[in-house]
Amino acid sequence: MYLWSRRSLRLKTLGILVLLLCVVGALSFAASAWMLDRSLVEFEQRAVSERVARVSSAIQQDVTARVRVASDYGFWDDAAAFMEQQDEKFLSVNFTVESLRNAQVSAVAFLALDGHLHAGVEMREGQRERLDESRPLVQHMRALVMDPALAGRSIGGDAKRWADGQPLLMVFSPVRRAERLSPQVGWLVLVQVLDEPNLRELSQGAGVDFRFLPARAEALGAAAAPVHNSAAQVTQPIRDALGVSELLLQVDLPPALERQRQTGLLVLLLNSFVLVLLAAAAAVLLLDRLILRRLADFARLARRQRHGAAASPPHWPVQGQDELDQLALALNTMVSSLDEARDELERDVRTDALTGLGNRRQLYEQLDHLLGQQARHRELTLALLLIDLDDFKLLNDSLGHELGNHLLVQTGRRLKELVRASDVVTRLGGDEFALIYVAEKGELGVLSFVRRVQQALAQPVSYQGLEVTVTGSIGIAYVATQAGQALNKDDLLRNAELAMYAAKRAGKGRYSLFNDALLGDVQERMLLEQQLRECLRQDQLEVWFQPIIDVRSGEVAMFEALARWPLDGGYCSPTRFIPVAEETGLINELGAAVARKVIAALPALLAVKARHVVNVNLSPRQLMSRHLVEQMCSLVDGAGLSRDSIHFELTESALASNADFAKQQLDALAAAGFHLHLDDFGTGYSSLHRLQSLPFSTLKLDRSFVVMLGEGDARIARAIISLAEQLGMQVIAEGIETEAQQQRLQELGCHLIQGYLHARPMPLDALLAWLAQRQVA
Ligand code: C2E
Ligand code: CA
Ligand code: CA
Repeated sequence: MYLWSRRSLRLKTLGILVLLLCVVGALSFAASAWMLDRSLVEFEQRAVSERVARVSSAIQQDVTARVRVASDYGFWDDAAAFMEQQDEKFLSVNFTVESLRNAQVSAVAFLALDGHLHAGVEMREGQRERLDESRPLVQHMRALVMDPALAGRSIGGDAKRWADGQPLLMVFSPVRRAERLSPQVGWLVLVQVLDEPNLRELSQGAGVDFRFLPARAEALGAAAAPVHNSAAQVTQPIRDALGVSELLLQVDLPPALERQRQTGLLVLLLNSFVLVLLAAAAAVLLLDRLILRRLADFARLARRQRHGAAASPPHWPVQGQDELDQLALALNTMVSSLDEARDELERDVRTDALTGLGNRRQLYEQLDHLLGQQARHRELTLALLLIDLDDFKLLNDSLGHELGNHLLVQTGRRLKELVRASDVVTRLGGDEFALIYVAEKGELGVLSFVRRVQQALAQPVSYQGLEVTVTGSIGIAYVATQAGQALNKDDLLRNAELAMYAAKRAGKGRYSLFNDALLGDVQERMLLEQQLRECLRQDQLEVWFQPIIDVRSGEVAMFEALARWPLDGGYCSPTRFIPVAEETGLINELGAAVARKVIAALPALLAVKARHVVNVNLSPRQLMSRHLVEQMCSLVDGAGLSRDSIHFELTESALASNADFAKQQLDALAAAGFHLHLDDFGTGYSSLHRLQSLPFSTLKLDRSFVVMLGEGDARIARAIISLAEQLGMQVIAEGIETEAQQQRLQELGCHLIQGYLHARPMPLDALLAWLAQRQVA
């Protein structure tokens, strides 16, 4: 009971209800049974008293008639005379056999006032005989008339006695003359034996069977003896003229009402049962229909929701407008607003706030979905494209974040236009976008699609009167490998990323398709990183020096310090290991090692010529180091060298990210007394305005322009040289390999020449030897 009642309100309520109705039924049954019993008892009692009354009145009538007969004889002159004279004829004439039999009198006696028998007759075995004093009957008669209750009694009456094992009715009357106030002279007593025939006659008259029983001695004389009832008979004392008689009247009762009682009880029981059943059925039905079943429905819905079986939140059933419906309506409203909020949240969680495109999370989910599809539909071509805008940081920093944001939004919009509405374009963060290319058989190949993406990106974006063009580097990775196996999400993303970096390395606006070699590259780079770490730990890095000649005087103007890493019996190119150091952060350690070695070499170089200067390359990441300026100053100062014997070379890319801090660092270096060269000038993105505001003293013309110059195209070289002239900067031309190149540069006004034409980078020993040889020459 405890268990089920805890689980189900419905069962509990219905159980209690049925129990309650059973109790009410039982109580009402008991009450009705009690009432039935009461009325039956009353009915019985009434029937009993009515019967007793009928019997009593029949007896009384009989007694009254006899008393009258006795009185008729008693108040008679002849009888009084007989008492006085003893006339034998009086008895024989008035009390014949015939008359005694008719009157059903068994004995007649005249007794004197003192109780002795005057004369009497009795019927014995059909014969009339004289009474004498010896007869027991006479004793009874005497006892009667001598009873003190009769003293002074002037009228007749009756006495009911038990004698010799049978009931007797004795009626008596005083004997006196008929005239008024004449004195009593004796007693007349008539005795009737209440035998079978007598009683039968009386019973017939009353219509009720009855009999007389002797009253128990101790009950005699009690004022009101109790009524003894049994199921079939009622027995009660009966009165006579002297009070309570010696007889009990036993009246037979009508056939017992027991059967009726039982039938009545059965009917009642059935009635109660049927009523309880009907009431229970009606109550249960109503309660269940209107409330409990609906509550159970609610509970079931709630349970399913709680156990996660339902896909969507429950919709509570509404039938009408009652309280439960109101509750259901309120719940439904609540659920749908929760639903909306959840949808919105889910949308937000998957949406990039700036562009409204999907975000990384959505890309992951989409990939999960598509990878599953690819497994089922082999004919689909699925490829992941990662698009990274080139030099976006630079643009963002130089032209402002608003333009940057506008550019990102435009890029997203253009990408979205290229794909189907159902396809997802996502922004992964910063300037990196991803889209999943899905082509069915016969549709555009991935590469044609990529070209369309490039064209779309190449369209200039205008913003507040400015027109900006950006390109994107695109990495492409197919979902299925060449062997036809589908990749997992993480591998796919890694592949696309590797391809994108490869595209970046190849230059701007390029795309690259992932291939296993790229993966090899990564592994190689990891190995390289490990080895480079080891090299730095063991201080195996070397610094070589390449002279820069002022061709006007033919003198060595300065040297560029270039890092050299002895590896596997040869040298690993800085174009390989510098990017790895840059990416892994080893560059700071490497840069410090280079600076230390340069400072260690400087005294020897200064010994050759006091005005010798060494140019040290600084990578973008080095410039971002907060300790850079302090570190360089303490190194140079610690060696007792002049700060202007060190020049630093930085590429434009060093200025791309966090331009403000970059400028701050450059200003600090310049303020500390170091000269600054802008390396590889012309290959990156530099606004002229910015160039002017930065403390560079020298521009280094990139080797690519020198090569163009050698091929007869002097336009860029000329522009840069004249620009430097305008800004009051000097120009160093890099990578001069031929006399012709040098010739053209000189004609354009550039005199500082660095290149194999004069000398390759070399270790300090070799350089010192080279310098010594030059002096001799
Ligand atoms: P960079 O600063 O532009 O250095 C000049 C590069 O041009 C050097 O390559 C040099 O050997 C090469 N070069 C000089 N003359 C000629 C020539 O006539 N013909 C050709 N083909 N090349 C010539 P290297 O030493 O391989 O260095 C490559 C790049 O690695 C450097 O370019 C610089 O960006 C970086 N690097 C080298 N050492 C360091 C370093 O200590 N620190 C940092 N941060 N970067 C370094
Ligand atoms: Ca350089
Ligand atoms: Ca350079």
